[in-house]
Amino acid sequence: MFFADSDTPVPHGTLEVGEEPEKQPFARMRVIRRDKWTEKILVEALITAAKLPGESPQLPPVEALFYTWGDFPLIDRDISMNLWKLHYKFDAEYSFSDGYPVGLAPEILSVLIPEKLMPLAVNRDNPVARDSLFEIIRQDINAFDVETQLSPVDLRMDRVSISTDTRRNVNIAEQLFAAGGVDAESLCRVIPDNRLLLRNLPAFFPIQITDYCPQACSYCPFPKFSGDPRDGRNYMPLDVFEDLCRRIIDFAGDAVIGLSLWGEPAAHPEIGKLIRAALAAGSRVLIETSGIGWNRTLLEELAGEKETDRIMWIVSLDASDPELYRTLRGEGQVEAEETARHLTKLFGSNCWLQAVRMKENEEHLEEFYKKWNAEGAQVIIQKYDSYASYLPERQPADLSPLQRFPCWHLKRDMPVLIDGSVPVCRDDLGRRDVSGNVFKENIEKVWAAGNELHVKHVSGEFPGPCADCDEYYCFNF
Ligand code: SF4
Ligand code: SF4
Repeated sequence: MFFADSDTPVPHGTLEVGEEPEKQPFARMRVIRRDKWTEKILVEALITAAKLPGESPQLPPVEALFYTWGDFPLIDRDISMNLWKLHYKFDAEYSFSDGYPVGLAPEILSVLIPEKLMPLAVNRDNPVARDSLFEIIRQDINAFDVETQLSPVDLRMDRVSISTDTRRNVNIAEQLFAAGGVDAESLCRVIPDNRLLLRNLPAFFPIQITDYCPQACSYCPFPKFSGDPRDGRNYMPLDVFEDLCRRIIDFAGDAVIGLSLWGEPAAHPEIGKLIRAALAAGSRVLIETSGIGWNRTLLEELAGEKETDRIMWIVSLDASDPELYRTLRGEGQVEAEETARHLTKLFGSNCWLQAVRMKENEEHLEEFYKKWNAEGAQVIIQKYDSYASYLPERQPADLSPLQRFPCWHLKRDMPVLIDGSVPVCRDDLGRRDVSGNVFKENIEKVWAAGNELHVKHVSGEFPGPCADCDEYYCFNF
């Protein structure tokens, strides 16, 4: 089985579906091509694959589907074999491994399952992700016979991906390989002993493009450290931003560029050009917004452009009750909700409506969820952040892991303020540790300045703001 997009050359020895196998050197691999892959299209392709005939009239049809990715260089023979034995012995419908780095084991599906997945995938027009199959099944997991092979060491929190999809992952995989991590068994030993290697190139660049906000939200540290954001008057010039985006991609290879660090992106007078500049540089773009101040025509134009799949939207709403909204965020709910509906319509699975979970809105979150769910919108509930005790604790519950581990943001995030300065961490609002200034220095050098704190985290020390911070376990990009 080989899934490919329309630009992928068919490898030697593969067959298009329907082609006769007789002249091929091996006939195990068959190709299903699609111009575009979404999760729904993936399930349709699996349905097709499950019905493929055997390789000769004497052989039975396909017995099971092994699903994996072409950019996983270290698919492990032993896990694959054990998983297959488990799958076969218990006549499972879906078998997967858990706790290993991504990329070491296939997922195995019974040929009976793809048809059953279609009702769960029918509205999933989002692009295929590494965990798409699991996420589709998870919607109704009790309806399926599932078998799991667990890793001897739980490495989920390290989120290592042994893949060749990004410069970052290639570097990490090669360094782990050089340290002796050549298969699943050795990687389970090598990764815990070499966590220093897991900080490689940054992946997420939240950038402050303006210091203006139309709201001064009650749970946001921005008003506290910089005064009323409704008085902000500064904007990052377009040419400065363009140059920064180019340098980011040159350095990191790929990136998610966020346009919402301490400011409302809609307020930037050239926001459309900024979004297009980040896309043109080759990045994905994350826009977190209050939903206030957007030009409808611009949103419609962006939704119609070729790169629209690389724009992600989060609209911060926090409450559906007008009184509560006003308490948390101030004025503007009607406009914010209209924008939320408009963005949902235009950007579909790339748009989320967010509520930060706090003591104040805890009881209202179900109502919030139901309201937007009924309108077909995607809802995310975000953890409250006290910014290392800079703000009062307002979390209704402490969900942090029992055992602390190195911070995800320290490994992956590089925040850039409007003057080009880079705090080691966005949560360090006292800015005790500034890594440098990307308008004056080389990005690589500025990023490397964060290694020192990472070394401390790996050795179990959490100094300064980190001591009071529980954001370390929250994953973004
Ligand atoms: S809109 Fe965002 S950045 Fe602005 S005050 Fe509210 S939470 Fe803070
Ligand atoms: S632990 Fe908190 S303060 Fe420390 S680097 Fe991570 S997010 Fe920043």
